[in-house]
Amino acid sequence: MQFYSSIQHIQEAIQNGSVSVEQLVKNYLQQIESQQELNVFLEVFADEVLEQAQQLDQKMKAGKAGKLAGVVLAIKDNICYKGHRVSASSKILGGFESLYTATALQRLLDEDALVIGRTNCDEFAMGASTENSAFGPTKNAADPNRVPGGSSGGSAVAVQANMCHVALGSDTGGSIRQPAAFTGTFGLRPTYAHVSRYGLIAYASSFDQIGPITKSAADAALIMEVMHGADELDATASRTQVDYKAAVETKAAKIAFVKDCIFHERLDPELKARFLVLEKKLIEAGHTVEWVDFPYTEYVVPNYYVLTTAEASSNLSRFAGMLYGYRSEQSHDIESTIVKSRSEGFGEEVQRRIMLGTFVLSAGYYDAYYAKAQKVRRLVKDYTYKTLAAYDFIMLPTTPHPAFEFGANQDPIAMYLEDIFCMQASLAGVPAISVPIQPSGKNLPLGAQIISSAFSEPKLLRFADEIHKMSENLV
Ligand code: GLN
Repeated sequence: MQFYSSIQHIQEAIQNGSVSVEQLVKNYLQQIESQQELNVFLEVFADEVLEQAQQLDQKMKAGKAGKLAGVVLAIKDNICYKGHRVSASSKILGGFESLYTATALQRLLDEDALVIGRTNCDEFAMGASTENSAFGPTKNAADPNRVPGGSSGGSAVAVQANMCHVALGSDTGGSIRQPAAFTGTFGLRPTYAHVSRYGLIAYASSFDQIGPITKSAADAALIMEVMHGADELDATASRTQVDYKAAVETKAAKIAFVKDCIFHERLDPELKARFLVLEKKLIEAGHTVEWVDFPYTEYVVPNYYVLTTAEASSNLSRFAGMLYGYRSEQSHDIESTIVKSRSEGFGEEVQRRIMLGTFVLSAGYYDAYYAKAQKVRRLVKDYTYKTLAAYDFIMLPTTPHPAFEFGANQDPIAMYLEDIFCMQASLAGVPAISVPIQPSGKNLPLGAQIISSAFSEPKLLRFADEIHKMSENLV
C-alpha cells in the first residue's frame, strides 16, 4: 500500500494513472480497519466516501475536478457536516445530526475534497489528551500507551497512521498544535478570524479556530488557500484576502527564540538540545537568532482558563435537554430537564469549566477575574505584537515534553499546564504552527512551534518547511 507525502504527489499519481481516488480511499479504509484499537474515528463514512470516490474518478477523467481532488479528509467531531452526526465527543449531543455544513468544510468539499469520517476528541474540545472524550481515549500510533495529545487527538492520529491524508482540527489553546507535536505531523492554528467559525461547535468564541493537520507545510497552505476568508454566516470572519501562492522564502529572517520557554525548568532535555542545534543551523543558513524574554509565561495558563471558561459557560448553555441531543429520562418539568440532562450529559471536565466560567462572570467576582483577565490578555497581545514588529518569527517548543502516558495528568491543573507554550499565540490571536522535529533514534515525536504576525500564514508556512528540512538532520 502506498501513501503519499503531499497533495501534489497524490494528484500527480492520479493523473499518471498509478492510483485512482477509489483505490486511495480503499487504502485509508483498510488502515482504519486494521488499527481500530487506536480508537481514532467515532464514525467512518465508508460506503458514502467510496461512492463519492468513484464519481470523482470519472470527474477527474473528464478534466473537471477541483483543486483538492484526491484529498481525503478526516474531520474533528466538532465540525458540522450536513446530514451527518456530530457530538463534540459528548453524550449530551447523542443522536444529533448536523443541519448544515461548516463554511470551512464546505469550501473544501466544493473543491472536491472527500470526508472519510469524524474523529474522536476531548469533550467539547476541552482537554489535552482525548481522555475527556465520552467515547474513550485515542491512542498515539507511535506508542499506544501514550496519549495522542488533544483535543484534536483523533485528527492527528488519523494523519499519523495514514487513515486519511489531511485532517481538520480546531485550536482554542493548543488543540491542533499539541497533538501535531505528539504525532509528528504539521498542525496550523490560523490567525484568529482568518477561517470562518460557522458550523464549528463553540468552546470559547474569541479563541476558536479551525485549522489543518497535515504531512507537510505545503499541504497546509493549499488547504488554507481554499478555506480562508470572509463569510456572511460568520460576522467575525475577516475579509483579509491572503495570497497563499505568493509564499516567498524569508531570506535572512530575524528569529526570536523564547528564553523563558527553551530554558524552562520543565522542558524535556532532548527538546532543549534540538533547539540549540537548530539555532546553529539557522545562523549557518543566514538567519539571525536572538534570545528574547516572554515575561508572561507563568500567567498565560490562568489567563486562558478564566477567559475560556467564561465563554464556555455561555456557549454551552444551549445544551439543556431541549433543542439538541440528549434529554434525561428523569425529566418531568423545565428545571429537572435542564438540571438532569446537563448533569448526566456533560462529563466531569466540562462541568468543572462551566462552573468555573459561571463563577468568574458572576456579579461581585466579574471585575476581580474576568475583567482583569481581559487586561492581562491585552498585555500579552501587545507584547506579542511588539516582538513580531521586531522579528519575523517567534520560536519555542510546542510542548514541554513528548507524548505522556495515559493517566499521567490526573490533576486538572497539571493537564492545563501541558499547553503552557501554546497559550501566547491563542491569547494574541496570531498564527502558529507546530513543525515535526526528528527525535533521536526511536524516541517519540517532538514539535517546534513558530509564531508569526496576523495574516502572515504564507510566510509562516514557507519558513515551517525550511525548519522541517533543517530538523531532519539535527541528531
Ligand atoms: N488543552 C486546552 C484546553 O483544554 C486547549 C484546548 C483547545 O485548544 N481546544 O482548553
